[in-house]
Amino acid sequence: MENALLDSMNEIRKFYETGATRSYEFRKMQLVKLKKMLLEKEQEIYDALFADLKKNKEEAYATELGFVLSEINLTIKNLERWMKPKSVGTDLVNLPSSSKVYRDSLGVVLIIGPWNYPVQLSLIPLIGAIAGGNCVVVKPSEVASATDKLISKIISSLFAPNFVRVISGDGATVIPPLLKDFRFDHIFYTGGTAVGKVVYKMAAEHLTPVTLELGGKSPCVVEADAEIAVAAKRIVLGKFVNAGQTCIAPDYLLVHTSIKEKLIAEIKSTILKFYSKDSNQSVEYGKIINEKQFDRLVTYLQHGTILAGGRHNKNESWIEPTIIENVSLDSPLMAEEIFGPILPVISFETTEEAIRIVHRNPNPLSFYVFTSSDEKEKQWIENVHFGGGCVNNTAWHFANKKFPFGGVGFSGMGAYHGKYTFDTFTRLKPVMKTPTWFDPSLKYPPFSGKLKLLKRIIN
Ligand code: NAD
Repeated sequence: MENALLDSMNEIRKFYETGATRSYEFRKMQLVKLKKMLLEKEQEIYDALFADLKKNKEEAYATELGFVLSEINLTIKNLERWMKPKSVGTDLVNLPSSSKVYRDSLGVVLIIGPWNYPVQLSLIPLIGAIAGGNCVVVKPSEVASATDKLISKIISSLFAPNFVRVISGDGATVIPPLLKDFRFDHIFYTGGTAVGKVVYKMAAEHLTPVTLELGGKSPCVVEADAEIAVAAKRIVLGKFVNAGQTCIAPDYLLVHTSIKEKLIAEIKSTILKFYSKDSNQSVEYGKIINEKQFDRLVTYLQHGTILAGGRHNKNESWIEPTIIENVSLDSPLMAEEIFGPILPVISFETTEEAIRIVHRNPNPLSFYVFTSSDEKEKQWIENVHFGGGCVNNTAWHFANKKFPFGGVGFSGMGAYHGKYTFDTFTRLKPVMKTPTWFDPSLKYPPFSGKLKLLKRIIN
């Protein structure tokens, strides 16, 4: 790492060690400042998200800025209570000691963000990191370049660089030297699984704990007893919002053979209703982030029979909402995370057969099932290991701040949102306090002859 950067990292460490970031007043003041600034920059945030991903204002608010503001409001409201040490019981052998669990800050933490929801996926962890009393380095994705610049501008104008700073640039170039020469106390990474593994390995060198918010193939199952019209609307919304570039989007559809035709007809008409027949002209429909992603997605179109959509235009970064069938389970469309507006549809006869298909790509980040049967719902929830999900809905579980949001296995480790974000950026520190007025000889050698008594007390 360059000397100047190493010096500035050491300054951050020094500032953390002064203890200045740990009082309730300091943390709250920073969050209030951040909130005020975000409200002032509302239009600039919309402009950046439009430039990067063609998100309209309403979508940008509902899926980005609004999430950030509600997280910040919840955190400001509850921070003092969350920070308080919690008294817990004490076992008999330690009485009359008292026991408390403190919430310790972690130290200097690194947040690495992706490009698809570039505001909320960098700023929600930042809120938690500040609330946790830490110093923070944020690395937004360089791929969403307008938002990257704006986040950098907001953070550098709000915070001293020895408290919160942004590091910009190509992640593969700037992160490895940083992680080699400087020990972070926690890394919070959101992005693809392949890079997640690289980050995890680099963190292991310093035994730095990580939160990994990764991707994967999130299945959407539609059973024969599903409410088809509602299912179609919720699948189309979850799949095609942000032009399919959503980590929790339904990646592929598994539909019972008996309702396949009807569901596809509903999905097609819903796409027309939501995005019109020329979705490139629609303010409701986003664009593909860049040429690299566009080219990757277009190659998928050859791997099946297109039932709807399929048109695309590189100059407009546009790929139409596309439904595709006759897709082999071995094709890239069913082996890689699609992360774009292409929905493969695969039919099944029995739930057991569908479960086997889901198990080909273990540990989805999200899982969705549409059914009116409690038994089927239970069977699916019990048989698939997934991060989080919905019954008769897609994606909206993300918005419930009472839920821990995160993956499992290949889709990640750790979780956040609401109180869980604060938990992720703090550490439980148990402390026992023992009075000196009571000091029985039982607790000291010689222990021989005390076995019967010890058995009684310890059990
Ligand atoms: P990515 O893995 O390409 O990049 C994510 C971040 O990592 C960027 O900031 C990038 O600069 C940085 N990076 C790249 N190479 C690096 C390296 N060698 N070392 C360290 N950092 C490096 O991911 P992406 O393309 O921005 O995002 C898409 C993926 O993220 C999808 O798989 C999606 O499912 C996943 N995702 C997951 C969530 C979630 O909450 N679980 C949310 C959004 C996206």
